Amino acid sequence: MALTLFNTLGRELQVFESLFPGRVGFYGCGPTVYNYAHIGNLRAYALHDILVKTLTRRGYEVTYVMNITDVGHLSGDNDSGQDKMVKSAEERGKEVLEIADFYTRAFFNDTERLNIQRPTVVCKATDHIEDMINLIKKIEARGFTYFTGGNLYFDISRFPSYGDLALLRMEELRAGVRTGLDANKRNPQDFVLWFTKSKFENQALVWDSPWGRGYPGWHIECSAMSMKYLGDQFDIHAGGIDHIPIHHTNEIAQSEAATGKHPWVRYWLHNEFLVMDKGKMSKSSEGGGLTLQSLVDSGYDPLDYRYFLLSGHYRSQLQFSFEALDGARNARRSLLDRVRALADKTGIVPVLEEKTDGEEAGGYGKADAYLEAFDAALDEDLSTPKALAGLWTLLRDGEIPPKAVLTGALVMDRVLGLGLAKEAAGVWNRGEDLDFNREIEGLVGERWEAKKNKDFVKADEIRDALKKRGILLEDGPAGTLWRRG
Ligand code: AMP
Ligand code: ZN
Repeated sequence: MALTLFNTLGRELQVFESLFPGRVGFYGCGPTVYNYAHIGNLRAYALHDILVKTLTRRGYEVTYVMNITDVGHLSGDNDSGQDKMVKSAEERGKEVLEIADFYTRAFFNDTERLNIQRPTVVCKATDHIEDMINLIKKIEARGFTYFTGGNLYFDISRFPSYGDLALLRMEELRAGVRTGLDANKRNPQDFVLWFTKSKFENQALVWDSPWGRGYPGWHIECSAMSMKYLGDQFDIHAGGIDHIPIHHTNEIAQSEAATGKHPWVRYWLHNEFLVMDKGKMSKSSEGGGLTLQSLVDSGYDPLDYRYFLLSGHYRSQLQFSFEALDGARNARRSLLDRVRALADKTGIVPVLEEKTDGEEAGGYGKADAYLEAFDAALDEDLSTPKALAGLWTLLRDGEIPPKAVLTGALVMDRVLGLGLAKEAAGVWNRGEDLDFNREIEGLVGERWEAKKNKDFVKADEIRDALKKRGILLEDGPAGTLWRRG
């Protein structure tokens, strides 16, 4: 079995092979923090999460980098309109960085509630201006830029493979209508690397640069920050499909222009949109899009929304409706009921937040075959609908021991993230002394660490000490399980 991913670059399913053995560098375009994320945006980060957790389960050490855009993103991705951050700050009578800080916290609050793992590196654009300037200097030195009307532009005519990602043809681009309104551009698709104050007199954040005092274009931040943390070439880059024709196309052009290395990124993953009625959702649309909090206010658990997202494949458009969300809530409630019943029966207490560390295949007893099918589903371009179906067939199997069912389900849920382990633990802890449980879990975790560090003496000491207190341990696929003897 091999993980296959649909690579937008080439438009085909490809077997995933990492650039370096055992390691994956992954960059996902993060939010522009001028408003709350709408539930469509959150679909993009749910894909990041499933990808990272699937790779982790396959044993890769994943470096997951996400940017926070707090400068330079104009309302039109093609350099038209006003800086989204500046506009939002003006409307709210606040400083740009206050706005950025507030919505960044709101964003991570949402992702946390959706069980979306925090990136390894979160990088703010305004903290990386120097990296961007240095990258632009390289692009300039290699002859890919021109300066006119106060702005430094990337000249796409110097980069013959421009548009490969989006299957755009250069001749068509040249013949294209000039919609950008920027008369200084030699080609309509040329884009700004560095703006000077000539663009907006009220630009709040500006920096000195070799091209004058100003601010960076939006695209350059992703190239500069991804390469800073992942190297000149890396494995995977993701974002919503709206980013294919402009943002990601421009990222590739400027990155490869700067380094001369190809391909910059090996696999490009793009999630389709979540749609309401007809058309896309926009953070800035009238009345704004729905937020996760608005779903919570209507009585949904954030994980009901996660279930809803996973029930569709990321490359298919997903139509949001409250009826569909109700369906997801009911399904998740049944899942929880089942897990609670199994936990009651078996007395298994999962250690929460246990790391996977690329578990060995097998050893799950009668649940093995189900886990294989589950992995095979994710191998098929991260098919979460099939993976969810796999979880259900396991839970419905009355023939295999409840312990195997529960353990298998908890292992699957490390990727699916539907809160099953918490539910199982909640059952076991019912009426119990929570401090006691926490202490035991701490010791169990310490022992796990000791084992990982091959300090078996210490590991055995902890096991014996726990045994004396009537606690039995079982090293298994869902980490170490513990229960009263
Ligand atoms: P933004 O904060 O506007 O830069 O968008 C954040 C992420 O959400 C990007 O990867 C977008 O492509 C993605 N995105 C925006 N709208 C939607 C939507 N309706 N459904 C899914 N993804 C979206
Ligand atoms: Zn980006």
